[in-house]
Amino acid sequence: MESLPKEETLQLRLRHYGPSCKLFFKESPIKIVRAEGQYMYDEQGNQYLDCINNVAHVGHCHPTVVKACTEQMSVLNTNSRFLHDNLVTYAKRLTATLPEKLSVCYFVNSGSEANDLALRLARTYTGNYDVVVMDNGYHGHVSSLIDISPYKFNHTGGEGQKPFVHLVPVPDVYRGLYRENVPDVGKKYAMEVKHTIDGARRRGRKIAAFIHESLQSCGGQIIPPRGYLREVYKHTREAGAVCIADEVQVGFGRVGSHFWAFQAVGDEACPDIVSMGKPIGNGHPMSAVITTPEIAEAFGATGMEYFNTFGGNPVSCAIGLAVMDVIDKEDLMGNASRVGNYLMEGFRKLGEKHSIIGDVRGLGFFIGIDLVKDKTSREPATAEAQHIIYRMKERFILLSTDGPHRNVLKLKGPMCFNIKDADRVLINLDQVLTEIEAASSNNRLEQLPYRKDVHSKRSGPVFTGSRTLSHDALFGNIKRPSDNDSDDEEAKRQKSWAG
Ligand code: PMP
Repeated sequence: MESLPKEETLQLRLRHYGPSCKLFFKESPIKIVRAEGQYMYDEQGNQYLDCINNVAHVGHCHPTVVKACTEQMSVLNTNSRFLHDNLVTYAKRLTATLPEKLSVCYFVNSGSEANDLALRLARTYTGNYDVVVMDNGYHGHVSSLIDISPYKFNHTGGEGQKPFVHLVPVPDVYRGLYRENVPDVGKKYAMEVKHTIDGARRRGRKIAAFIHESLQSCGGQIIPPRGYLREVYKHTREAGAVCIADEVQVGFGRVGSHFWAFQAVGDEACPDIVSMGKPIGNGHPMSAVITTPEIAEAFGATGMEYFNTFGGNPVSCAIGLAVMDVIDKEDLMGNASRVGNYLMEGFRKLGEKHSIIGDVRGLGFFIGIDLVKDKTSREPATAEAQHIIYRMKERFILLSTDGPHRNVLKLKGPMCFNIKDADRVLINLDQVLTEIEAASSNNRLEQLPYRKDVHSKRSGPVFTGSRTLSHDALFGNIKRPSDNDSDDEEAKRQKSWAG
C-alpha cells in the first residue's frame, strides 16, 4: 500500500476517525511506520525509544511471535467449538503460572471483554450485584466497566457513581489517606475497605466482587503496601463476595519477581478471578479470564451458553504460547528486574538533584515518577510533567503521564529494554529537568518550546546513543550491571531475534 504524506494521514484521521480517541502528543503527533524490539520508527526514519508500550511486551514485532502467527494463520483459524490442540495447550500453560485453584480459562479479545466477563462470573456465582472498586481505578471502555471505573465515571463526560458501586481509597502511601510513616499502613487501608463493605451491607446492598488493578496504572502507578491485599481479600470473602485481580496492565512477568503482580504484593493472597490482556498477545488482540472450577460451574449451570466468535482461536493461542516462550527463553522477567531496579535507582539519584522528583516507585519494569512543585506539600507538578514528556519526545524518547493529577511519569515499555536504553532515559531526563526547573523558577514555563514539531526540522540537542554527560559523574555510586553484561544480554537477545 502506498504511504500517505503525514499531513494527509492527519487530515483523513480528523475527518474519518472518532475524535474521542486522542492522539499521543496531539500538538505534534508522531506517525509511526514500523517498530522492532523497544524502538519505533517514524516516516522519516527517526528512532524513538519506547518506554510506554506495555502491549509490545516481548518487543515490537518479535520474530518468534510473528512466525507463530503467520504459520498458524496459513494452516487454520477458526472458532473454539472445534477441538484444537492450541487451545488446550495454551490453557494448560497459562494456568500453570497461577495458584492451583485458578484452573479454568475463558479466552476473549480485549481487556474490557475480560473484565466484563469477570463481572458476570462474579455476579452469577454470588447471586449479588454490587461492586467494590478502588478510587481512580480503570477496568475498561464498555458500559459495564465505565460504571465501575472512577477514572472514567468521575471525570468529564462521566455519569458519576451509581448506587451499586462502592468506592474505597487508593492504597497510595505517597499522596493517599495514610502515608508511608503510618504503622501497619496496609492494614489501615484494608480496614477502609471493610468499613465500606460493612456500610453498604447495612444499607441492604449485596456485594458481588471487589475488583482491583493489582498495581494501579492509570491511577498513577500505585504499589499497594504489604499486608493490604491479603486483608482486603479476607474482608471481601467474609461479605460473601469474590476477589477479581485485573492484571490487564501488569501481568505476564512485568514486575520481574513474579509472573502476576498480585503475587508480588499479595503475601500469598489468591484472587478468585484473574483478568488479563494487553501483553498477552504482544499486540494481537486477545485476552483471558481465569477462575476456579466452582465459579465456572456456577456460570455454566445457568444454562446460558457462552460463545465468543474469536476468543481462543488457534492463531491467538499460537501467539499466546509464543509470547510465553519468549518470556522464558529471553529471561525477560530477570531483565525487567535488572533494568527496572537500575532505572529506579537512577531516578532516585536524580531526585537528590532535582526537587521536582517527589517519589519514585515501581516493581520490575513498571515505574512511576511522581512530580511535585514542592517536596513537602507534594503539590502535583502537572504542567511541568506535560512539558517533560514533550521535551523527551523531541529527544526521541516516548514517555507518558498519568494519575489523577497527570503528574506521574510512567515507564512500562517492552520488557527487552536494556541498560543502555535506561542510561539514555536517565541522561536525557536529567537535562530536561534542569531546563524545566530553570524555566519554572523564572515563571517562564509557558515559553518553553515544547510544541515545536521536530519531525520536519530537527532542532535542539538530540541524544541518540552516545553519552553527552559522563554517566559516572551523574550516577557514579549506582551499582550498574557492567557494559559487558548488558552487551552480552543484548547480543543474546539479538541472536534470538535473528534466529
Ligand atoms: N484494565 C486495565 C487495568 C486497563 O489498563 C485497561 C486498558 N488500559 C483495560 C482493563 C481495558 O483493556 P482494553 O483496552 O484492551 O479493553
